[in-house]
Amino acid sequence: MNTRVNGIGMTSSRTRARLIERLREQGIKDEAVLAAMFDVPRHLFVDEALASRAYDDVSLPINFNQTISRPYIVARMIEVLCATGPLGRVLEIGTGCGYQAAVLSQVAKEVYTMERIRPLYERARKQLGELKMRNVSVRYADGSAGLPEAAPFDGIVMAAAAPALSATLREQLVVGGRMVLPVGSQEQWLFLVERDVKGFRETKLEPVKFVPLKMGKE
Ligand code: SAH
Repeated sequence: MNTRVNGIGMTSSRTRARLIERLREQGIKDEAVLAAMFDVPRHLFVDEALASRAYDDVSLPINFNQTISRPYIVARMIEVLCATGPLGRVLEIGTGCGYQAAVLSQVAKEVYTMERIRPLYERARKQLGELKMRNVSVRYADGSAGLPEAAPFDGIVMAAAAPALSATLREQLVVGGRMVLPVGSQEQWLFLVERDVKGFRETKLEPVKFVPLKMGKE
């Protein structure tokens, strides 16, 4: 057994099973999403000193003033994204440590993820590679205008909050596609944008707290 990946003590499968129970209590129902949350070793995506807290439902620092979202938010965004069926190609903006991309890789055929801070991009790429998540492509780029060369996407998730809904991004959705993203500055809300043959429909889901979307690369 690979104890590094499977975990022991505070990172063991018992600890992870408790997280899944909490996610169920919080209303996450999609079994594929819950299975992916159980399978992906979140403790490998945070600093070793924080590994014992990796299966608590809390956000954690990942350096460079960035944070990894709490598991409930990751599960909720992915559940909303795949509510209409299995996902083909997905775009994530804001790779961070790569955890959400890893969970997405379990429920989608292909994942593209973009990060603007080089050391975070490098670390995420290495970690996803070590876990042999070969259906994830990590890009070092400003993702605020999406990834036109890989579009269209069945799903788009944004892990950083833009002040307003972007019209450029939603054009990269297929008809029937869905985008889940935090919007706002002081007060932020999670939004769902759905594309159908007639156009786009926006639904305000719940209040959230994300780091701000930034422009350019560092
Ligand atoms: N999904 C991530 C959460 C990352 S936090 C995880 O599971 O860890 C949000 C990330 O978005 C940060 O790493 C930040 O650098 C990145 N980000 C912010 N603006 C961006 C932009 N314009 N393009 C790409 N990444 C961006």
